[in-house]
Amino acid sequence: MNVLISDGRITEITSKKITSYDLKINGFGKFLTPGLMDSHAHVSSIPGMGFGVEPVAIKNPKLAQAYFEQQPRSFLFYGVTQILDPNPGVSFDYFTSAPQHPDYFRCEVLTSKNTFPYVEKADDLSRSMFTYLIDESAEATAENSVERLIGKIADSGASCIKLYFEDGYGNANQWATLSTNTLKRIKLAAKKYNLLIVAHANALDMQQLALVAGVDVIAHGMWNWGQYNREQNIPKEISNTLNKMINDEVAYMPTQRVIAGLGEVMDPTIGNSPEFTSITPKPLIDWYKTTEAQWFKEELRAGFDRMPDQSISDAFLYGRIRKGNKVIQYLKSADHPILLASDFPGSPSFANQPGLTTYQEMKAMVTAGLSLEEVLAAATINNAKQFKIENDYGTVEVGKVANLLLLKTNPLDSIESWNRIETIILHGDPIARESLVVNK
Ligand SMILES: [Zn+2]
Repeated sequence: MNVLISDGRITEITSKKITSYDLKINGFGKFLTPGLMDSHAHVSSIPGMGFGVEPVAIKNPKLAQAYFEQQPRSFLFYGVTQILDPNPGVSFDYFTSAPQHPDYFRCEVLTSKNTFPYVEKADDLSRSMFTYLIDESAEATAENSVERLIGKIADSGASCIKLYFEDGYGNANQWATLSTNTLKRIKLAAKKYNLLIVAHANALDMQQLALVAGVDVIAHGMWNWGQYNREQNIPKEISNTLNKMINDEVAYMPTQRVIAGLGEVMDPTIGNSPEFTSITPKPLIDWYKTTEAQWFKEELRAGFDRMPDQSISDAFLYGRIRKGNKVIQYLKSADHPILLASDFPGSPSFANQPGLTTYQEMKAMVTAGLSLEEVLAAATINNAKQFKIENDYGTVEVGKVANLLLLKTNPLDSIESWNRIETIILHGDPIARESLVVNK
């Protein structure tokens, strides 16, 4: 077929010869696909430097700048032409003002001073990330009412609201969650302003709470099975919860790379692969080898009572990932749509790098048991439909935005085809993949 692109959109797909054009890309023998969408990527966080507002980045401004210059190119290098950022933090201008960057969509975080993630932040700088703070106390005014804040989020141009259901990491439960009444008001106001609700929840009880609150998307794998943590297979209470997810049509983001990134940071060779070095600035790779950059590894070691690094790594890579995979398999068997969502960088681990993490998340989906067709759908049309942008994205069709990829091999034959991109087409403009390799 011949695909005609004009003004950044696909205007014709025909078996007839097209005779009039400015530029021709020869795709003979190659594979044209929609550009990929990662619906959970945080562009404000530099891998290895922190999370949210980053004190380490402030101390290393040159490294931060080199990173931010390369970041949008790295996403494009791995075929990511649309991103949804559920928590943009203070500013995302450096991303959207880059000469070439994936199309950018975002949620805004709605939280309170008594709940995660605000409650975990100890300094004013980190707290300043939260623009939309609900006051659940009796002193609440109209100005900070749920309805007013959600109106402001809608006015800001966001596509969704991010809510956190987190009462403590792992089995801990020291933090409060938003009240049932607040959650009801959020649901009503979100509906009124046509905003989707994306829920951070990764434990059984927290995902149950999110489902009761009527959220649209669960933004993490269910890695923590609470009292069922030692079970090998999915127990009744978990299957009942997943059935509710299926019946209520709540979409699921496995975000398996969060856990993989935690396990892989313990591996001293993680920065050596060509996949990593082709997109990560050399000074940043060098910095990852310094003592200063080992702070997060040290935190993990302390958290695991100084267990050997290999055992820490295994706890993540085998223990928790296995639970996430079981849930993916359960949802797959019910044909429940799964979204490509990496949660890049997912933690302060430097094992996750922009774009590469998205590709690795696709590979993780195959490992979990999804077919190559299901991975393609997760990365394209499922995300487009879920975030109501399927008129513009998600398929190669007349009328849609010309965000496309030309692959050397068939992505329905091997997942590695997504790492054999020849050309990225962004709003109709072809970009040779090699041109996106980091400047050494
Ligand atoms: Zn996230």
